[in-house]
Amino acid sequence: MSRLKEMENKLLHASYKLTGPRRKIMEVLLENEGAHLTAEDIHHLLRVKGNQVGLATVYRTLELFCELNILSQLNFEDSTSYYELEAKDQHHHHLICLSCNKIIEFSDEMLENFMKSIEGQYGFEVTEHKIKYLGYCSECRQ
Ligand SMILES: [Zn+2]
Ligand SMILES: [Zn+2]
Ligand SMILES: [Zn+2]
Repeated sequence: MSRLKEMENKLLHASYKLTGPRRKIMEVLLENEGAHLTAEDIHHLLRVKGNQVGLATVYRTLELFCELNILSQLNFEDSTSYYELEAKDQHHHHLICLSCNKIIEFSDEMLENFMKSIEGQYGFEVTEHKIKYLGYCSECRQ
C-alpha cells in the first residue's frame, strides 16, 4: 500500500474525508520526509508548488494529522512547533539546540532496551514515547 493510501485510510477510518488541501499537504509531507517542518514551511512549500492553501487550514490539518498519528509534533521552548512524518521503521529521538534551533536526530539501542526493562519492571506496555534532549550543539558551544 502506498504511503498516501495508508494515510488516506487513517483519515477515512476516523470518518474524515480526504479533501483537496489535506491531500496536498500529505503530498508535501511525503516529498519532504525526514525533514522537520513548521506550519509556515509547509504553507510555503505548498505555494511553491502552486497550491493556495490558507495558513489556518494548514494549521488545522496538521493538528488533525497529529491526532490521527500520521504526523508527530515536536515542540520547542519558544513555542515553535515542528512536524515530521511518523515512520515506524525510522524511530528516532531528537537533540534540540536552544541557540540555533538545529535538530539532530539520534537513535540508541540502549535507550530502547532501557525502556523494555522499565516495561518489564512495572508490567506496563509503552505504546508511544518521545525523547528530546535540550541544550547546545557543538557549533554553538564554541
Ligand atoms: Zn546550535
Ligand atoms: Zn525527527
Ligand atoms: Zn525510542
